[in-house]
Amino acid sequence: MKRIRGVFRVLVYLCLLTPCLAADKKPKLVVAVVVDQFRYDYTLRFRADYHAGLARLLEHGAVFADARYMHLPTVTAVGHSTFMSGATPSVSGIVGNDWFDRTANHTVTSVSDETTLLLGGVPNAKGSSPSRLLVSTVSDELKMAGRSRKVIGISIKDRGSILPAGHMADAAYWFDNDSNHFVSSSYYMKELPGWVNQVNQNGPIQKYLGVAWSAIDAKPGDKPFCSMAAGSEVRFCGSIEATPFGNELLEDFAEKAIEHEGLGTHDGTDVLALSLSSNDYVGHAVGPDAPEVRDISVRTDILLGKLLDFIDAKIGAGNTLVVFTADHGVAPVPEVNQARKMPGGRLDSAAMAQTLGNALSARFGQGDWFVAENYGYFFLNYATVKKNNADAAEVRRVAADVARTIPHIARVYTSDALLHGEGAASGDFVGRAAQLGFYGPRSGDLVVIPEPYYMFASQGTTHAAPFSYDSHVPLIFYGPGIRSGVYYQPVTVNDVAPTLAAILEVETPSGSVGRILSMVLQ
Ligand SMILES: [Zn+2]
Repeated sequence: MKRIRGVFRVLVYLCLLTPCLAADKKPKLVVAVVVDQFRYDYTLRFRADYHAGLARLLEHGAVFADARYMHLPTVTAVGHSTFMSGATPSVSGIVGNDWFDRTANHTVTSVSDETTLLLGGVPNAKGSSPSRLLVSTVSDELKMAGRSRKVIGISIKDRGSILPAGHMADAAYWFDNDSNHFVSSSYYMKELPGWVNQVNQNGPIQKYLGVAWSAIDAKPGDKPFCSMAAGSEVRFCGSIEATPFGNELLEDFAEKAIEHEGLGTHDGTDVLALSLSSNDYVGHAVGPDAPEVRDISVRTDILLGKLLDFIDAKIGAGNTLVVFTADHGVAPVPEVNQARKMPGGRLDSAAMAQTLGNALSARFGQGDWFVAENYGYFFLNYATVKKNNADAAEVRRVAADVARTIPHIARVYTSDALLHGEGAASGDFVGRAAQLGFYGPRSGDLVVIPEPYYMFASQGTTHAAPFSYDSHVPLIFYGPGIRSGVYYQPVTVNDVAPTLAAILEVETPSGSVGRILSMVLQ
């Protein structure tokens, strides 16, 4: 007994000299969860219906009530790249889900990579990689420090699995709807591990063929939201991704990854980056006010609870640090807004390109003036500029002046203006978002920002704007060493990466502009 007491005394003395309590609290596993298009207000509106995973995070986690993205455009690739890097697009180079690549002379996606092959999908299809991400993520820092054995990203979308996991990830898996298989890329490995092949051989979507999606609290006789069988009276869901079953596939796959890759059982800290994508597909189709969104949110709570229980059973309670957020929000459906006397409407970006092109043809000479346009980003056709002996900056200035005359356009920036910092000089968050979203070698020639609640979408709804409905997201930390409570001070999602780096005691990711959220650290 005396000897034990002596050893204890030595430990106490040692702990006075070194932060051994903090070291003891280092998680075995970081679970970085993004729910695609999960608006902040979904944590409030449906709170009474959450009793599982989300309830656990909201009750026992550090919950930020005012976490925002500060960049444009608020879209999937940009949110996912920000989450674990702390960088803005102006530094990370991830300026959209896709953009017109001037060198390749065609549109590329944030993760497309012609030098890689898809594994597990259609034979010889091209794969994807994080090669366009210019900065490190938290897990890259862990890997470079030799402090993490396994880092795995999982999502329906390639960008959702690849970008948070980073360059040194052991694997990113996503769902390929050409083959209905979980796939990866030759960037990570030569061939899929046996357990992934097994999942694919079992036919992951087999059990959902012909199934209908009904409300979780449906009463007898209630009509389903949609059906996986086409041709019935009920709306066709379209695809498994556009139902809560897509999230179920992902949660099931995540459990298998944890089990077969031994996540959380190694020395150091493993990382599971999980992005639940189906909320986004559903939200785009029906909008944030539809009952489907409540239903998939409640089901997300249940799925998260299942996953957290599974992890606790596998690696023991108190060993996992969870970070929960969304990659962006979503605007109300314009017609829903109009019906309740709120502003909003639809804009047609192809028609806008036509209007701008006609004006440019009248001023500088005939030609096809744009090579690409997407959610307000317009890419000039430099061949037409050259053919007409025009000055590109002058062409942009004229096009911007015309765009400013179009109804419901709030703001237009040319790439020249952003190169000279005029977005930041605007002095408000809209200009700053345009500036932080601008990376010269990749961004468009014009950034056209509609008024709040106006959008470039012909049906359903979308996101990309700097306004709260698109930029305000949940942010929750939960686990060992986290001080629970609700925090009302304004923070950004860029603060996640430096905070995790501080907790894990590794270097801050290379492009991070965030700050350590020290108020949540015990
Ligand atoms: Zn998204």
